[in-house]
Amino acid sequence: MKFALDEDQREFKALLRQFVDNEIVPVARDWEQAGRYPTEIVDGMKDMGLFGITVPEEYGGLDLDPVSFALVFEEIARGWMGIAGILGSHSLACRLIAMHGTEEQKSTYLPDLATGKRRTGIGLTEPDAGTDLQGIRTTARLDGDHYVVNGAKMWITNARYADPLPVLVKTDPTASPAHKGMSVLLIEAGTPGYTVTKDIPKLGYKGTESCEILLDDVRVPVSQLVGGVEGRGMQQVLSALEWGRVNIAARSVGIAQRAHDEALAYAQQRKAFGKPIADFQAIQLKLGELGTQVQAARLMAYWAADAVRNGRADGATGMAKIFCSEVALQAAIDAMKVHGGYGYSTEFEVERLYRDAILMSIGEGTNDILRTVVAKSLVSGETVVG
Ligand SMILES: Cc1cc2nc3c(=O)[nH]c(=O)nc-3n(C[C@H](O)[C@H](O)[C@H](O)COP(=O)(O)OP(=O)(O)OC[C@H]3O[C@@H](n4cnc5c(N)ncnc54)[C@H](O)[C@@H]3O)c2cc1C
Repeated sequence: MKFALDEDQREFKALLRQFVDNEIVPVARDWEQAGRYPTEIVDGMKDMGLFGITVPEEYGGLDLDPVSFALVFEEIARGWMGIAGILGSHSLACRLIAMHGTEEQKSTYLPDLATGKRRTGIGLTEPDAGTDLQGIRTTARLDGDHYVVNGAKMWITNARYADPLPVLVKTDPTASPAHKGMSVLLIEAGTPGYTVTKDIPKLGYKGTESCEILLDDVRVPVSQLVGGVEGRGMQQVLSALEWGRVNIAARSVGIAQRAHDEALAYAQQRKAFGKPIADFQAIQLKLGELGTQVQAARLMAYWAADAVRNGRADGATGMAKIFCSEVALQAAIDAMKVHGGYGYSTEFEVERLYRDAILMSIGEGTNDILRTVVAKSLVSGETVVG
């Protein structure tokens, strides 16, 4: 049994680390607080080919193995988690198109998505349905060679740059069970009736926008139905979300690693009662726990990433997403405590880690829902603990 990255993965991680340390770490705090869009960082990620990490090589992508995919999100989130958001739903949607799209859809979109010339996201959540995706209300009614789409989407990350945006709709709102009437349509930006109406104000996850979208009689050609067959939308989305959970687990490791790094450095530099606070046992307990938890989370994230190499692994990805996101939040809180009053200051990094960490327990399935997913996987015997 091996617990180490292979040589290619180590080199890739070192390259990512260098990019993050040079291009993201120095500007993250200022740009995040200014609400500035990180255009230069996006350009750098384009140059590195990172918009193509889930695009097959034949369409110009890097087609990374899932562990290398996790490394991208770990390293970028160590610098600034919001940046990982720009790549996150883009990569998930690219994977959805690559796995389930028609040949025409793949050749039309994937080459430009791989370079970042086109960008994308994923439109699932609605004002009245998030966890319960079968409860969405957006409908797509067939009218000749077009669907007419009506509804609203909520919290859509990258909405202002997505072209096309894969949108989950009901092509048969009367179907029972509901998922049999659900499909994904690739809606191009600029299609009449498709409007990004609002950037939702948020606690953290700045740098990337999360928006409301209105769909008002949007006419979408039938050729934009992912896979060309109705009723497969939920299955298509769920298979892509599996990599999404690896992505969130890895982002959580990145946040936790940064919390650890900041706490360790501060504890050695800050003095109280004539000595570095790292000499006090109360601080040592926090540092020891932080290091232990971060390393455990990292192993779990890589393990789950490795598990999806051979297909669906709901149990492993669910476990990793739950564990790593909880570690990230606790690590951020502990790092703030090590910093004392300065931990609460926006002039230090750790308060951002805290604001960003909370999202990790919500996105790609809330942790409570994933606990039920893990339980089902244990009961069915698909996942075996031991
Ligand atoms: C910053 C941000 C970015 C996002 N980006 C995107 C995006 O790009 N695309 C997209 O489609 N969505 C996106 N989302 C939406 C996100 O995926 C949803 O918020 C998430 O799935 C939860 O859905 P909800 O908010 O509707 O909560 P709800 O589903 O209303 O859940 C509320 C609470 O009820 C609990 N709950 C619900 N059902 C059950 C149950 N059966 N058993 C036990 N507990 C239950 C949940 O765990 C949660 O605690 C984003 C959200 C945020 C905050």
